[in-house]
Amino acid sequence: MKAFINNRLVLSFLLSFAFPVMTLAASLAGSLKMPSGEFCAAEKLEVNKYTGSEENFINDNFASLGAYYGRPSLLKLLGGSRKVILTFDDGPHPRTTPQVLEILRRRNVKAIFFVLGLQAQKFPELVKQIYDEGHIIGNHSFGHKNLAQLSEEKLREEIGKTSRLIESITGKRPEYLRPPYGAMNKNVLRVAQSEGMKIVLWTVDPKDWQSKNETAILKSLDRQLGFNNGDFRGGAVLLHDIYPSTVRALQPMLDRMATHEYLITSIDKLDAGSAGFWAAASPSLLRSSFFYKAFDPEVTGNQLLVSMFKKKPRVEKSHMAILKAHKSGNLLAYLIKNHFNG
Ligand SMILES: [Zn+2]
Repeated sequence: MKAFINNRLVLSFLLSFAFPVMTLAASLAGSLKMPSGEFCAAEKLEVNKYTGSEENFINDNFASLGAYYGRPSLLKLLGGSRKVILTFDDGPHPRTTPQVLEILRRRNVKAIFFVLGLQAQKFPELVKQIYDEGHIIGNHSFGHKNLAQLSEEKLREEIGKTSRLIESITGKRPEYLRPPYGAMNKNVLRVAQSEGMKIVLWTVDPKDWQSKNETAILKSLDRQLGFNNGDFRGGAVLLHDIYPSTVRALQPMLDRMATHEYLITSIDKLDAGSAGFWAAASPSLLRSSFFYKAFDPEVTGNQLLVSMFKKKPRVEKSHMAILKAHKSGNLLAYLIKNHFNG
C-alpha cells in the first residue's frame, strides 16, 4: 500500500512538474548545442546568398509543401536522431557505381543516387540497375553546371532533359533534385517547382570529392556524426559514387554506423511526425543531461524506478520511451500499460 501511494505521488510529480521542466531543458540543450559549423560549408555559402525574397519563396512554395530538404529541415528531421540517408552524386560511373551497388546490396541498404544526365546518357544500363536494386534515382542536372548562373530557358533544359532521360530508362520520373554545388536562386526553385520536384541538399559532407582518400573520409565522417566523442547525430551524407576512395570507405563507413546503432533510412521515408521527438535533442544529449540520469535507476538507485524498469528488462531504454510517450501525449497510457499493470 505504501509503495502504491509512493507510486501515485511520484507519478503526479512526474506529470505536473518534472516532465515539462525536462522537456524545456531538452529543447534548451538542443538549441545551445547545435552541430558545429564544419558541416557542409559549401551549402551554407549558397544558403547565405539567398535574398529575402528568395527565402520567402522557399518558405511559401517549398518548405510549406515539404518539398525543400535544405540544411535546416534535414537537421530538424535527422540531426537529433541516429538516422542517416546516403546520397551519391555525379554518377553513374562504369567502374565504381557497380561496386557501390554491390556493397549496398550485401548490407541491404538503400540510397539515393543523384545522377547526371550526361552520365545517364552514356550508361543507361547502370541507371536501370540502380533503380532495379531498389534505390531512388534523383536528378543532378545534365552537365553539372552552376544552375544559379543559367537563364530560365537553359535551366529548363538542364533539369527537364535529365528528368525525361531518367524516365525513359526507368519508367519513373525523378521526384528529387540536387542542384550541383547546392547552388540555387529563385529561377532554380521555380523551375524545380514547375517540374514537381523536391530539392534535397545535405548536412554531412565527408569531402570525398576533395581528399579522395578513404582515411580522411572516415575521419571526417567520424567527426560529423559524433562517432569520435559520442555526441551522436544523424544527417544526410553527401558522397560520390565515382571515386575508388569512396568505394573503399563505404564498407567501413557502414560498419561504424552499425556499431553505433545508426539506422540508414531513405529520403521518402522521412516524415516529420516520427522524427519530431528526436528533433528536440539528440539521444546523446539526453543521456548526459541531469534528467536522464534522474530517470536512470542505475544512477539514482530509486526503488520505484528500479521496480518500474526492471519489470520489463527487455525494454532497455524505458526512460527514453517514457519521454517519447510524454512528447506524444500518451504518457499516462504508456505508464499504465507498461508499468502499473500487474
Ligand atoms: Zn555534383
